[in-house]
Amino acid sequence: MSKRGEKTQAEVLAILRRHRRPLSAYDVLGELRESNPKIAPTTIYRALSALTERGRVHRLESLNAFIACQGDRHHHAYILSICDDCGAVEESVAPDLLKALSSIAGRSGFAPTRHVIEVHGLCASCGFAQVPA
Ligand SMILES: [Zn+2]
Ligand SMILES: [Zn+2]
Repeated sequence: MSKRGEKTQAEVLAILRRHRRPLSAYDVLGELRESNPKIAPTTIYRALSALTERGRVHRLESLNAFIACQGDRHHHAYILSICDDCGAVEESVAPDLLKALSSIAGRSGFAPTRHVIEVHGLCASCGFAQVPA
């Protein structure tokens, strides 16, 4: 990997960490362009896919957006709970659940390589705000 590629990955990761909200590749590009107006979209996509592959960033398939990993590096075992109100994303690791899913999917001979579990709803503070006083 090139030195420049590594630098872009570090910058992209820093932006995602700072926001703690899902960002689209376009949002990330917009921020990077503030300091580097010539940066190309393909550079961002490459950095995001490398970071996703390394488990540093997770892709939210349902939102087509990215969020920095909140846990240790890992590749397969996570559940992302997405608040539809404020956009907060909480990450939980549930290896047992994923093992169960793999074996259910595997009954027909299917070989799972990757799980994406996204749960939409309201986070604790948004859900609480909607409870009538
Ligand atoms: Zn993670
Ligand atoms: Zn919320």
